[in-house]
Amino acid sequence: MSANGFTTEVIHSDRRQGSECGAVHQPLHPSTEYAFSDARELAAVFQGKAGFSYARQGTPTTAALEKQVTKMEKGTASVSFASGMAALSAIFLTLLKAGDHLISSKYIFGNTNSLFLTLQGFGVEVTLVDATDVEQVKAARKANTRMVFTETIANPGTQIADLQGIGEWCAQEGLLYVLDNTLSTPCLLTGRSVGAGLVMNSLSKYIAGHGQALGGMVTDTGLFDWTDYPNIADVYRQGNPQSWGLTQIKKKGLRDMGATLSSDAAHRISVGAETLPLRMQKACDNANRLAHFLSQHPRVTAVKYPGLSSHPQHARAQQLFNGQFGALLAVELAADIDVFDFLNRLRVLALATHLGDTRSLTLPVAHTIYYEMGAEQRALMGIADNLLRISVGIEDYADLEGDFSQALA
Ligand SMILES: *Cc1c(COP(=O)(O)O)cnc(C)c1O
Repeated sequence: MSANGFTTEVIHSDRRQGSECGAVHQPLHPSTEYAFSDARELAAVFQGKAGFSYARQGTPTTAALEKQVTKMEKGTASVSFASGMAALSAIFLTLLKAGDHLISSKYIFGNTNSLFLTLQGFGVEVTLVDATDVEQVKAARKANTRMVFTETIANPGTQIADLQGIGEWCAQEGLLYVLDNTLSTPCLLTGRSVGAGLVMNSLSKYIAGHGQALGGMVTDTGLFDWTDYPNIADVYRQGNPQSWGLTQIKKKGLRDMGATLSSDAAHRISVGAETLPLRMQKACDNANRLAHFLSQHPRVTAVKYPGLSSHPQHARAQQLFNGQFGALLAVELAADIDVFDFLNRLRVLALATHLGDTRSLTLPVAHTIYYEMGAEQRALMGIADNLLRISVGIEDYADLEGDFSQALA
């Protein structure tokens, strides 16, 4: 590993991969197929040699982005997908079989929760636990447990699982630990640093960062011993065991299921990623100030943000995230405020789903992303009707505070 810092490495990674004519960006390769001058070489690539054959399994442009994110995560290798959900689907569908058991945090992104219902339909058992307490994760262990999954900072409640404790326990038990690092990004935390075997980053969020491309990435941290994992097909138990897991994810997830990242999107994501640390710093700083302001406001009932000393995992966040606390807030307005009228009074923030954009975005959680699960389940998860999710962007801070002040007045 080079001694350069995070930003230096990310900015210079394209150029250092050796591009034509001194271009500082990797060229954008639109080819669907790759031709060979030697038939033996063509066969070798089909038989596992590194190279390109058909763009469903990747292009030089997606490969360059994979290297960039591997560096960010200090991992060994990565595979890109068309979206974060495609990347998560690939992990669960290629590594789990009917009869296997998955332990997951119950504080997870709604679409991941929905994906778990699909997995259960295929005969995979899923137990949802409060992963902020490692003892609850341990108590869910069964003989057929294969994998433990959690997000780093949960969307939208901002709960922080005991990432380190779970990592230590999974290492002891030989269990595969999969982390969704989307809300913290490798700027705040690497999956490796808490013992995860695989890390998923939705590139659509902070890494691309400008609401201009969808993508997802699975990175192998190099910590998990794949020789112990029973669901690797014999055909992929070849060569260095370190590569077995990602090989199966790539073959099954990209080649068979086909949710491939396009070269065009990969290029836009890699340009966005060059400013990730700058944007994260500004967005986290804005979010921290806004959280403190709103938590003092008489018209606000509750603010969930890891940077507040009232947050149940504030001390854990201080320890884990490089001095930052993320850029997502959950804010509950006073019960007598009409949430729709309030949102319609905002002038700076955009009323939109999505997070990790340069722009601040907000939406009423119960009526949108958590609508499908119904009132009963929402109540169990602590999602009030007046709860907003706010993804804080990189605007001038005073404009954000001013917007909330006028809309709450
Ligand atoms: C958005 C998100 C995803 C899914 O990513 P897409 O690129 O939108 O498919 C997964 N996990 C978390 C925590 C997210 O916020």
